Amino acid sequence: MQLSNIFEGLTRCMTMIGGLFLDRDGVLIPERGDYNFLAEQSILLPDVGVALAMLKPYFQHFIVITNQSGVSKGLYSHDDVSMMHNSIQRQLAEYEVQISDFYYCPHAVAVSKCFCRKPDGIMIEKALSRFHLPASKSVMMGDMERDILAGLAAGVHTVKITSNDRLEDFIPEILEKIK
Ligand SMILES: [Zn+2]
Repeated sequence: MQLSNIFEGLTRCMTMIGGLFLDRDGVLIPERGDYNFLAEQSILLPDVGVALAMLKPYFQHFIVITNQSGVSKGLYSHDDVSMMHNSIQRQLAEYEVQISDFYYCPHAVAVSKCFCRKPDGIMIEKALSRFHLPASKSVMMGDMERDILAGLAAGVHTVKITSNDRLEDFIPEILEKIK
């Protein structure tokens, strides 16, 4: 086989790996039925690190997609959001897992109109475009109906879990979607 054919095959293979989009609260960290913005609220749910480490070979990027309307409501700041995300990143580093980016919508329906807030798909669409990810090989995973609607709006596969569920249990379903 010619070297050029091998590279072509490799490139085709690599471009067929997509992104795993993750809702934050209820998927990575506990959904408490209230806003998470304190350091102690950024503790990962059990087995999140292990589950993402197992999924790592199947996705080019892990990307968080989260609504954080508490920013617009003045309950916490952009710095608080960054602190939470840095903490999540540090905890995942122990499993050699990295979140490529955190997309969050800081807007609140009552305060300001926007086009990014889930169930809109724009945050996912932005990430697909920025990281050159094929939608057909990408999955949005979340615990809310709006996560699923956002995924469908962006044209990616969707996996719905119940809040604070064990991610490991959903690995077969996720992999089935991108087969
Ligand atoms: Zn927004």
